[in-house]
Amino acid sequence: MSSKYEFDLFVIGGGSGGVRASRLAAQKGARVAIAEEYGFGGTCVIRGCIPKKLLVYASHFGEEFEDAAGFGWTVPERRFDWNVLIANKNKEIARIEGAYREAIERAGAEVFLERAEFEDAHTVHLKKSGRRITAARFLVATGGRPSRNIMGSAPGAEHCITSDEAFYLEDFPRRIVIAGGGYIAIEFAHIFHGLGADVTLVYRGPKILRGFDEDMRDALTKSSEARGIRVVVDRLFTKVEKSGNEVFAFTDKKEMLEADQVMLAIGRAPNTDGMGLESIGVELGKRGQIKVDEFSRSSLPHIYAVGDVTDRLALTPVAIHEAMAFVRTVFDNDPTPVDHVNVPTAVFSQPEIGTVGLSEAAALARGFAIDVYKANFRPLKNTLSGRAERALFKLVVDAKTDRVLGCHLFGPEACEIIQFVAVAMKMGATKANFDATVALHPSLAEELVTMHAKAYSKGPE
Ligand code: FAD
Ligand code: NDP
Repeated sequence: MSSKYEFDLFVIGGGSGGVRASRLAAQKGARVAIAEEYGFGGTCVIRGCIPKKLLVYASHFGEEFEDAAGFGWTVPERRFDWNVLIANKNKEIARIEGAYREAIERAGAEVFLERAEFEDAHTVHLKKSGRRITAARFLVATGGRPSRNIMGSAPGAEHCITSDEAFYLEDFPRRIVIAGGGYIAIEFAHIFHGLGADVTLVYRGPKILRGFDEDMRDALTKSSEARGIRVVVDRLFTKVEKSGNEVFAFTDKKEMLEADQVMLAIGRAPNTDGMGLESIGVELGKRGQIKVDEFSRSSLPHIYAVGDVTDRLALTPVAIHEAMAFVRTVFDNDPTPVDHVNVPTAVFSQPEIGTVGLSEAAALARGFAIDVYKANFRPLKNTLSGRAERALFKLVVDAKTDRVLGCHLFGPEACEIIQFVAVAMKMGATKANFDATVALHPSLAEELVTMHAKAYSKGPE
């Protein structure tokens, strides 16, 4: 690498993508620096996946205590303390944050705990120390932030919280209204409900989880409502007001929803504001995302971007995958395009959705003739617990080649099962491969290899 610059690589943003890229590049002997303005680990570690999953675990205990009775247990007293949960969560997050930082330093990268902005195409300005640093290459991995743009110009967004604040609330909201119908809205609706809150989910469209398989959307809506989460669709907020400790959300159907907190979970915006990117010639898209090619290279050949700031697929393992492909491309001289095919994903509702590949509608829209297999069953645990809830597993199969195009699971532990279905699908598994696999009994996952009867076949749209 050129010695004209202080560093071979300067990484902006110490989240999932930035941490992985800086560590790997430094381990390969490159002179690497990384700037992080808030905390290492980024959204995933501090205000995303990890604290979210800890809260999800906490929210499951209520139902577990209920279910225990059928198995002979008496749980004498049920009391939940939000402040204990948040304090323990914060301790664990601080531990992980420290470990991330140490790992980068151990790999030999220089760490700056401050904001970085571009001054020119090869120089960043560090905002706290005032230092100016030059590098041959840059990786922008600045992630995203919650959108507060409620319904265009509707006033009152300042009275609402987002997922960022939800992780640090001082008081547990007994009543919460959540706007949105995507991952975050649904996961927090289930978290707060599981912890004992009265939850209303307000979604602008006709059915939550747009883009997911219809059967998953229907199953989750039904089970959310059966649990007591109020799912209100086809609604927009017109304004939000606050009076004392109460927040009031008004909808375009002339309703007033009263709550202790109103949460916006209406998408995330890429973090590019004020970074000086456009002024040095980096092309941004409509949402402010950095436009990149398949090698994560921006419109300037020495500036790359990975993760949420590129607005491709906003998931932690994807940001990490993109970072690894970037390092291989640039530091191993092995051009490696990113691969976004058959990425598994889960919605951590109760129970979960796990999904990989094409939904039924997406497969048809892409011109496939499909065979659909479904298993709709009551998990064994729900017999003694008395819980009526059923699970739904679904396979979408290419009728011509027998290849499994999509797998969609609604049920307990769906996230744990779908990971390995993704391995099989990545290898090109056919339905015959699933059928030839001996079941593991008794398990939920065995339903995937015992779906012998076709539910229906469909031609392309
Ligand atoms: P980030 O992790 O957001 O990191 C960007 C970093 O850049 C931040 O630390 C920020 O402080 C820093 N930064 C920004 N600008 C500057 C600057 N100018 N100078 C210095 N530093 C800067 N994904 C999953 O796969 N599974 C999940 O279960 C999951 N749950 C989620 C739950 C929530 C509530 C949220 C919000 C997200 C969740 N995600 C989940 C998504 C996942 O967190 C993101 O896809 C992932 O963190 C993206 O990584 P990144 O490196 O692109 O950005
Ligand atoms: P999503 O894109 O998943 O959902 C946003 C929701 O808000 C959609 O229902 C959308 O409706 C709605 N919406 C968008 N704009 C408005 C608006 N102006 N007014 C009202 N509603 C609006 O985003 P999230 O914020 O939930 O999460 C961001 C990303 O983070 C996810 O896409 C995912 O990639 C990642 N994530 C992953 C998780 C996981 O892996 N388990 C968990 C949490 C986040 P519509 O559908 O009609 O567009």
